[in-house]
Amino acid sequence: MTIDIDDYRDVWVFVEQHEGDAAPVSWELLSKGRELADETGESLIALVMGDGVSHLAEEAVARGADHALLADDPVFEPYRADPYGEQFRALVEERKPSIVLIGGTHTGRDFAGRVAVPAHAGLTADCTELAVDDEGLLLASRPTFGGDAMATIKCPSHRPQMATVRAGVFDASEATKDDVDAAAAVEEVNVVVTEEDTLSTVIERVVSDVVDITDADVVVAGGAGAEGDFEPIVELAEALGGEVAASRAAVDEGWVEPARQVGQTGKTVRPHLYIAAGISGAVQHLEGMNDSDYVVAVNTDPNAAIFEHADYGIVGDLHEVLPALTAMIREK
Ligand code: FAD
Repeated sequence: MTIDIDDYRDVWVFVEQHEGDAAPVSWELLSKGRELADETGESLIALVMGDGVSHLAEEAVARGADHALLADDPVFEPYRADPYGEQFRALVEERKPSIVLIGGTHTGRDFAGRVAVPAHAGLTADCTELAVDDEGLLLASRPTFGGDAMATIKCPSHRPQMATVRAGVFDASEATKDDVDAAAAVEEVNVVVTEEDTLSTVIERVVSDVVDITDADVVVAGGAGAEGDFEPIVELAEALGGEVAASRAAVDEGWVEPARQVGQTGKTVRPHLYIAAGISGAVQHLEGMNDSDYVVAVNTDPNAAIFEHADYGIVGDLHEVLPALTAMIREK
């Protein structure tokens, strides 16, 4: 398919929502999208789909979008890949965005291909870095070869340039534009899908009880130094109202479920407080927690690399240090 790439403009961010609440990755992408749009001199457009979600389109404008497109219809609730994919595809065909960013969530991964394939566009999945080059081309980077290398992918000849992006890798945008009439910057678009066109029906929605550590304010992570006994880590996490996480070494040993792994091949977390206990500080682990506000490391080895990345370090056995911390916190 031959296209004129000069016809394609603007940076689009998909605002993912569930029952009217935005997924945090949406605001993370909006802040990154703002940077990219400023660099390319284009507009930042938020795309919101759902039923009764105009408040999110307005919030996207308050958080930095120049304009929001709103597809508001009962067909979009609950989420299904076919109406989302078809509506998004039709808007892309009509409006011709240059860059499209979608959260690398279950939802984003589920329907992004339905937009990219008919557009004959490339789609870089699970990106952890985004930039634009001198010509305004999107540089989408992601771990490759099982995390041994980073691949930076650009797409010179097709549009839109699409990426799904891992949650937690960018700062979320804040609502800063109090003085603008956000509603005036929201355009309700023509909904092109109907219930009759939609092949799938949702019979039951079961919310998975698999933990999501990416939103936690406090994370207490254990590593190989726990030597199979995660009790002190669990206890401290409970006392602090935080989540338990782990290095890959601890996950590989089967001490902790894979959903709690932090790092290059696990989750990216940005909590206010990250406690790393019995974790050496390998580069692949650091990649998943280096943007935490405060890092506390507990390690028996005073030369452990994790101390170079910690705000506070305690040289000691986690089986002694953590219970003492837990007892102090519980006493307060
Ligand atoms: P170790 O490196 O074995 O460190 C254990 C630490 O515990 C040591 O510093 C030791 O001094 C300390 N210690 C021992 N006993 C105690 C005690 N009683 N009290 C306190 N401290 C104690 N790793 C990740 O974590 N996440 C990833 O996503 C990830 N992805 C990877 C992807 C690839 C492609 C590769 C090659 C590797 C990846 N790794 C990842 C693995 C990574 O390289 C390290 O091997 C791993 O992070 C080490 O885990 P650890 O720090 O728990 O264990």
